[in-house]
Amino acid sequence: MITISASVGRLGVNRPDDVSKVQDLLHRAGMNPGPVDHIAGPRTIAAINGYQQHILRAPDGRVDANGLTLHRLNAAITRAAPPRSPSRIQPSQVQQAPAPSRVAALAPSSKAMRTDWTGDSEAWPQDKKLASLDPVFRRQIEPILSQLRTEGFKPKIIFAWRSVAKQLVLHRQGRTKVLFSFHNAQTPQGIPNALAVDVVDERWGWNEPNCHVFFKALGRIGKMHGLVWGGDWTSFRDWAHLQGRQNSALRQVKRESGL
Ligand SMILES: [Zn+2]
Repeated sequence: MITISASVGRLGVNRPDDVSKVQDLLHRAGMNPGPVDHIAGPRTIAAINGYQQHILRAPDGRVDANGLTLHRLNAAITRAAPPRSPSRIQPSQVQQAPAPSRVAALAPSSKAMRTDWTGDSEAWPQDKKLASLDPVFRRQIEPILSQLRTEGFKPKIIFAWRSVAKQLVLHRQGRTKVLFSFHNAQTPQGIPNALAVDVVDERWGWNEPNCHVFFKALGRIGKMHGLVWGGDWTSFRDWAHLQGRQNSALRQVKRESGL
């Protein structure tokens, strides 16, 4: 358990020893605050803010001595496996779905080492689609898929992350109304970190009328887990769509994606 004597980050006390501890924690949690230089500069604050996007509704760019952010950073490094060299990873491991506990510990930067994110994301296998989600969002989606299976459905993810280029293609085809969506969310380094999934029942897809039995269950269970369901949108009912944030957060997510 790493402790600090006073707050670090935006409007923080920023004692040099505390700053370096937070910078080290951020590195180990997969964020990039720049070098550990004991100075709470813009990159450190941006990294704190970026980390808080996963855990707080209103990130403030500051780590308090007894606050949730420090608690979660400590929990993240305790969960994380010791770092491994990319050269030791065998090709077979890259194809393999990581075990759930391992997935939970993966920060976006470690995803980058393990996975080739090129190609058509619509054609990726289910486990790779899951791995392209923001880690916190993924931990919300997994129990939803389990619950759907328990209720006898056969959920299949059509889209998790997708590139902005793919978004443009879908937009031209009339399959989406927006040029940037929560599906496009990524880390500033360009690693997929999606905040939305489109899920259908593999038996029915979008075929009436059975698909709506599934979509209603998807919406019900998704909302129980605090997610936003596209089936509730009156302008454009996006039945298969669940997202982790309100639409009002879209511009902020776009900015944080470096897009
Ligand atoms: Zn969608």
